Order: sequence, then C-alpha cells, then structure tokens
Amino acid sequence: MQRSHETRVDPALGTVVHVVGTRQKRPNLPSTGCPFCVGGLEAPDPYDVYWFPNRWPAIPDDRCEVVLYTSDHDATFFSLGVAGARKVIDLWADRTEALGKREDVDYVLVFENRGPEVGATIAHPHGQIYAYDHVPTRQKRRLAGGWKPDLEAVDRIAVDHDAWIAAVPFAPTFPLAVEVAPKQRIADLPSMSDADRQGLAAMLVDVLARFDRLYEQPIPYMMWLNQRPTVREGYDDAWFNIEIVSPWRSAGVQRFIAAAEVASEEYFNPLVPEDVAARLRELG
Ligand SMILES: [Zn+2]
Repeated sequence: MQRSHETRVDPALGTVVHVVGTRQKRPNLPSTGCPFCVGGLEAPDPYDVYWFPNRWPAIPDDRCEVVLYTSDHDATFFSLGVAGARKVIDLWADRTEALGKREDVDYVLVFENRGPEVGATIAHPHGQIYAYDHVPTRQKRRLAGGWKPDLEAVDRIAVDHDAWIAAVPFAPTFPLAVEVAPKQRIADLPSMSDADRQGLAAMLVDVLARFDRLYEQPIPYMMWLNQRPTVREGYDDAWFNIEIVSPWRSAGVQRFIAAAEVASEEYFNPLVPEDVAARLRELG
C-alpha cells in the first residue's frame, strides 16, 4: 500500500502518529560525496548559511526545510563562533516569519539532530524546520503549563550571561539536558532585537562548547526551539526557549528509553540534574 502521508491519532491515548511510508526510500548515507558541501547535490553555489526544501519531507506541502549552518563540513555549532551562530539565528528567524505567515501554518519547529546516535544521516552541520498546520501536543502542554525560566534555582543554573540563562530542568527526562532562555520574556525569533540575537548566539556557542567538553569528544544531541505559535491570536505569555538534550549518560554510553519508561511514561534518569549543572559550570 502506497501512502505518502497520513496523520493518525491513537483512539485510546490520543497520540499523534504521522505515517510516512515514502520516507523508507530515503537514502541512509549519500553514496556520492556530501550533498551539503559547496558543489554538492543540495548546495551548488558558495554560501555562509543556506536553506532549501527537504527532498524527503516527513510532512507534505512544503513544510520541511533543511538549514545549513556553514559550508565548512567539519564545523560544529560552537566552532561557528558568535558571528557564525548569529547568521544561523537570523536565518531561523527569517524562515519562522516566512512560514508563519502562511494561513496553513500554526507552528514553526526549528530543530537539530547531531550525531548518528540520534539519527543524523549526514555529518555536515545542519538543522531542520517543520512547519505544522497545528500546534503539536508537547508544545501545547508546555505553553499551557506557563513555561518560563526559574531564575531562583541557582543550583541548576549551568551558564549565566547578562540577558540569557542556561539551566538544567528540574525533572529532565534525558541524562543531559539544558534549557536556554532569555531572562526577560521574548515570544519568538522574529521579535528578537539585534541585541537579543547576539546574546542568544553567544549563549548557544558557550553551551554547546561545554557539551563537547564534558567527555572531550563530540556528543550526540538533539536541540529544538520552543516559540510562540504562529496563529493570529493567543499564546501571549509564550516564553521563547531552546531545549538541548543528549542520550549519553557517560562517554559513549547511550541511555535507552526502555519498556518500563515507554509503558509508564515515567522516566529514570541516572544523572542528578544539580550535578550536571555543576559540571557544566566548571567547564566554562
Ligand atoms: Zn559537507
């Protein structure tokens, strides 16, 4: 049976599942060089940062994009430096605005999977964007819960810059987790000032450099941006933040989400959040 995309909702649990049969044809690793390097399949011309529609979209109607952070194949997010990270942030903001203007887009999710452990099939530094026609369940719950940074929880603060903070969550489901947020509320990328973007760039570079210093090697991580839905009204309290998590519980050792956790949706975290924060503070 050939189905390109179908959204199903589990009748008992309400879990949303996108059935995307065509994605199985997606190549795991390109056979002819890196498609993201200059001159490659997706990036024929020289660039600093660059976006293009995903050739293998998880959802149809031009809702999936790829964002290249740099033409340097061996770079990492933090090696871009503040100036390079700023270009990525500006592009994220531009795409959020452009996609968010569409009548059929309610939520723009910017994210990155880094490392084969979390499913990144191409090593070249890049992220992705999904533009949903609804506000996804987890974002809805987080917004309804009134998420904002806890500036009082000093033992979980990992990095403190002037206007931005990175803290380990109170109850993280991943062994390594931080939430990056502005100390004063900002709703989304497009509404960030020049100074906001500069501050965010510096914070991301700092945090991700510390992540790689933890085990003195590149660490697999997932990073995603939580921002205000792009619907016309509501969500006025949305507080922009970025979650960065890693499945590693020690160097090269993956923590698996296993039967009891899947069954119960209750998690067992082998790392103490306050210890993780202290360790990240030391790595500055
Ligand atoms: Zn490359």
